[in-house]
Amino acid sequence: MNVIANHLPTAELQRLDAAHHLHPFTAGAELKAKGARVITRAEGVFLTDSDGNKMLDAMAGLWCVNIGYGRRELADAAHAQMLQLPYYNTFFQTTHVPAIALAKRLADLAPGDLHHVFFAGSGSEANDTNIRLVRHYWAAMGKPDKRVIISRHNAYHGSTMGGASLGGMEPMHAQGGLPLPEIEHIGQPHWYGEGGDMSPEEFGLLRARELENVIAHLGEDRVAAFIAEPIQGAGGVIIPPDSYWPEVQRICDAHEILLIADEVITGFGRTGYWFGSQALNIRPDIMTIAKGVTSGYQPLGGSIVSDAVAEVVSEAGDFNHGYTYSGHPVAAAVALENLRIIEEEGVLAHVREVAAPYLAEKWAMLADHPMVGEAKSYGMLGGLQLTPNKTVRAPFAAPVGTVGLRCRETCFKNGLVMRHVGDRMIISPPLVITREEIDLLLDRAWASIDETYRGVLGDGLFEAA
Ligand SMILES: *Cc1c(COP(=O)(O)O)cnc(C)c1O
Repeated sequence: MNVIANHLPTAELQRLDAAHHLHPFTAGAELKAKGARVITRAEGVFLTDSDGNKMLDAMAGLWCVNIGYGRRELADAAHAQMLQLPYYNTFFQTTHVPAIALAKRLADLAPGDLHHVFFAGSGSEANDTNIRLVRHYWAAMGKPDKRVIISRHNAYHGSTMGGASLGGMEPMHAQGGLPLPEIEHIGQPHWYGEGGDMSPEEFGLLRARELENVIAHLGEDRVAAFIAEPIQGAGGVIIPPDSYWPEVQRICDAHEILLIADEVITGFGRTGYWFGSQALNIRPDIMTIAKGVTSGYQPLGGSIVSDAVAEVVSEAGDFNHGYTYSGHPVAAAVALENLRIIEEEGVLAHVREVAAPYLAEKWAMLADHPMVGEAKSYGMLGGLQLTPNKTVRAPFAAPVGTVGLRCRETCFKNGLVMRHVGDRMIISPPLVITREEIDLLLDRAWASIDETYRGVLGDGLFEAA
């Protein structure tokens, strides 16, 4: 209590925060009225707030703290690197040892012929790089009209102008004049919400073939790339039907479209493999990485690029693009230490053999609750749908997200960080979570869903639209 109490009182912190700190994805009025949650410490899978409340972090921060909080090795790696070389850039034909070592390590881990890394400071920046990279690639190939990038509604690819344009989030497009031109969106493979009477497999094929339809409509000489998350994260942990990815792969191959797998969430063990592309048998030309590459201990992102694309781009003169912090030595040193821990501590095997099967079994049991429709997980990603009528997969009559938000707030109160996307509840816990901690997660999740349910019933909100 002493250590965490060694700061201004919570109310004063909240007042200062609301007065001076503009938050991402937060409404200012609510921030002033309720105050932000102030997180002061974390260890393993648990967070502690400024009042000393301990919470199980079933989101691993923002999908990123793969090896859990409090790992001294990462702090030591940062400390040592700061003393040796705290910063230098990688522009104008210079480099440094951490960037070289990390590029080599990522080239070894990545599937297929993805052997070249362009570093960025975040996933958003990496996706901005991808937009310029694929257009530059096709121009260098003598096909300057191949510029359109196809993405999906309800995708998340970051918050920069490029990242948010690639993303398919309508509330994001509504602010700031997005999307950028020459970016198209097709439907998402979200069977539960949009599949109607079709089987999941039929629906997966239908949604994949929308890609082929758009390519046919535009002409394949105008389409540069398709970008997608192997499993949609921020859109609500949407696990595509098994028919989806093989068909997308076939279409990209048949029409000479570069495939960009946005692995920012699915990379670095979340699916039980180094990359989601390996779990789902996808052969991307480019992978976007960030988040779990450092377990969130340092900001770092990048694009891992195939031999074929890298060769063309390298031969085409300067790529007039780069970030001051591309390959930042401290972030790179922390990433290397994080990857060493994932490998040497057998984190992938823990996910595949222990944590993910156990989570899958327990998570699916939430579907026994009267307010829960589908409850599915893949690796260490889980999503469930709150519904007033699971037989017909009905949405609530109340505005989308009303019940989801109540559920999230109840989770917080009960010591569980679970996020809501509309009326879906989602989790993405640290990969190192134990069986006992998964039990605790599920106990708190059930109790919170049930408490929300009783409130919703009492307030007359358990009504289908
Ligand atoms: C978080 C995320 C991004 C953006 O990464 P930032 O580091 O927040 O810029 C991009 N793509 C996916 C799939 C993400 O989940």
